[in-house]
Amino acid sequence: MNVPFLSLKDVTAAHGEEIQAAIKRVVDSGWYLQGEENARFEKNYASYIGVEHCISCANGLDALIWIFRAYLELGIMQPGDEVIVPANTYIASILAITENGLTPVLVEPDMNTYQLDGSKVEAAITERTKAIMIVHLYGQCAYTEQIGELCRKYNLKLVEDNAQAHGCRFQGGARTGSIGDAAGHSFYPGKNLGALGDGGAVTCKDDELAACIRALANYGSTKKYVFKYTGRNSRLDEIQAAVLDVKLKYLDEDTEKRRAVARYYVENIKNPAIILPQVPDWQAHVFHLFPIRCARRDELQQYLADNGVQTVIHYPIPPHKQECYKEWNKLSFPITEQIHNEELSLPISPTMSMEQAAKLVRIMNDFV
Ligand SMILES: *Cc1c(COP(=O)(O)O)cnc(C)c1O
Repeated sequence: MNVPFLSLKDVTAAHGEEIQAAIKRVVDSGWYLQGEENARFEKNYASYIGVEHCISCANGLDALIWIFRAYLELGIMQPGDEVIVPANTYIASILAITENGLTPVLVEPDMNTYQLDGSKVEAAITERTKAIMIVHLYGQCAYTEQIGELCRKYNLKLVEDNAQAHGCRFQGGARTGSIGDAAGHSFYPGKNLGALGDGGAVTCKDDELAACIRALANYGSTKKYVFKYTGRNSRLDEIQAAVLDVKLKYLDEDTEKRRAVARYYVENIKNPAIILPQVPDWQAHVFHLFPIRCARRDELQQYLADNGVQTVIHYPIPPHKQECYKEWNKLSFPITEQIHNEELSLPISPTMSMEQAAKLVRIMNDFV
């Protein structure tokens, strides 16, 4: 019995008949863009997250790009303004800032939660700071009262990158994606709410922001053949919206399956060489990933592979060490770098069996 990192085939098959029926309905309808399927999914997802507006778009990166672009269009931000962002995130969070001519200011994460360290944020705030972007990395809520307090004190927008945390809750209440001023969501197939291709959405409460983003993602058009902004074609197609609407119904159930695997790992992996994630609040983690740390990470990964367990590193090279951001290559973010050197993501998904989890635990505990 092998343990794959994630079997998307199984994930789709778990709701296979309903997904196939939804696809067939769209194919037969003859209506493939900007129709009922998008309207229904947007309404259901907005209500699931707990906000007034959901604007679907082509992918998660675009969702984040549109948020900052809309703040520029509305005059709330100016080119060159600064956005505080965690130094350890997927590159898309940062690309969305630089794509808009804004300046990312990287701040270290907390070594225990892997999320933006609120105690280091204030020192990074300048006259030009306009926003803090939190990234609910690995599926864990990154919001803290301290970060909310700083946003109010300095009049900053709070933008959430919710690409990895669909369904996560802050203190058992508000869902991530409804906490800040605007949130970007990704429906990349491997995400907790994944399409069968690319997809994304913005959620927010503000009517003006929502209208601007809706226009930007559709050529900048406010009405057919009337263009207010130089937008782009960044639409979610009807087939993906229909698939997502099916999968949304099962999201909470699927999250509980992820949590069951995570709980089993937390309770049973007992190896002094392994640092497990700290989970003070199970509602505040949807386990998009199950990240462990190990000083001998590469050796452990090879050992697991030799024993039929597939793992993935999230991520091997931090953004400030990437060639695309050469100007940061000499900067030092020791915590971020240590996480990148030690992190390893164990298999976790709603379709993973407890037998597979048990096998993994046995192998992990035998690692010397
Ligand atoms: C996946 C991801 C994105 C981008 O989503 P795409 O749909 O792949 O464009 C952005 N931020 C984070 C943290 C992600 O994990």
